[in-house]
Amino acid sequence: MKVAGDWLDHPGTQALCAALETEGHQALFVGGCVRNALMLVPVADIDLATDATPLVVTRIAEAAGFKAVPTGIDHGTVTVVAEGRPHEVTTFRRDVETDGRRAVVAFSTQIEEDAQRRDFTMNAIYADRRGSVIDPLQGLPDVQARRVRFVGDPETRIREDYLRILRFFRFHACYGDPAGGIDAEGLAACAALAEGLETISKERIGAEMRKLLAARDPAPALAAMAQSGVLARILPGADPRAIGPLTEVEAGREPDWLRRLAALGGEDPVELLRLSRSEVRDLTALCDAIPSMETPAVLGWRLGHVRAVDALLLRAAMLEQPLAQDAVKDARRGADARFPVTASDLMPTLLGEALGTRLKQLEARWLASNLTLSREDLLKGA
Ligand code: ATP
Ligand code: MG
Repeated sequence: MKVAGDWLDHPGTQALCAALETEGHQALFVGGCVRNALMLVPVADIDLATDATPLVVTRIAEAAGFKAVPTGIDHGTVTVVAEGRPHEVTTFRRDVETDGRRAVVAFSTQIEEDAQRRDFTMNAIYADRRGSVIDPLQGLPDVQARRVRFVGDPETRIREDYLRILRFFRFHACYGDPAGGIDAEGLAACAALAEGLETISKERIGAEMRKLLAARDPAPALAAMAQSGVLARILPGADPRAIGPLTEVEAGREPDWLRRLAALGGEDPVELLRLSRSEVRDLTALCDAIPSMETPAVLGWRLGHVRAVDALLLRAAMLEQPLAQDAVKDARRGADARFPVTASDLMPTLLGEALGTRLKQLEARWLASNLTLSREDLLKGA
């Protein structure tokens, strides 16, 4: 079995792997790049595994003229930037001590040990720089069946690191077979140990949920999270029932995690997922827009085209109706519109506070006309 792709042929990547090999070390791709290449989906970032220690990796990389940054040195990770491309190079390791959040690690020269400490079989497949696949744990059938399966006993693996509960659902959302269902043994372990998520920081939970919600179809994973009690644990009050209808009305539009979050709800996503200020602003605007009586054009004017269409998608999903193309056009019209009256139209008759108040009134009239009144119409009444 071989993998191929531009990511593999990158000259910096090839040079880095060749430099490690020349010194008698293994340099193997692992994780997302191999998994995605096997599933024929775009490769985002490059993870490499090696038997060379981080110090040796650094020495070899620098001798080859590359920059090496000790980004995760406790875990054996050095980021090597070769010809403009970053590579996360991690020394083969096994976890000697775990507390559910962090691990104390020991370096290893055995690929089998390195594979055993990884989370899912589909993430424990390696490839060399020629693309030849090395599969120490028989992950290939799982990739082919799009089955997210824990390496080893799921409960043991979750107790080592509770974040794996969320990774299980996230990988199922992103790479699982929507028709094949979620792995029952993994799901049961997540349900039994959901309480352990209390020890995971909200930042990490937020990061996982952002990725999960950005999957093409997160509905089956979210339904399984709700059923297993995991969703209520991380986001009380969230209800995934609107997610299916939403992905249906989205019909191929780019997934947007915040739009999905607006459909998911929950009592306090701002705090529990550590949303940023601009995320809070967008989420609030969307949630307010769903039940409001504002026309698509007014939504476009207020929120801009992209978020207005998000609001229209959410409304359509709640009503289980398709998205009306006229509404999308109207949102565009609103987003592109310019309020036709300016301050200078009212000066010097009005100045200061009175001017501001008048402009606000005229804008309200203009919005009430669905953005159709002209400058002349508005000034006639002024
Ligand atoms: P992506 O980068 O697309 O999110 P990925 O699989 O590359 O997917 P990373 O978070 O970059 O995910 O991790 C790289 C690899 O490291 C994973 O494929 C997996 O083998 C291992 N890994 C990452 N996090 C964990 C974890 N919490 N427990 C066990 N193994 C992990
Ligand atoms: Mg990765």
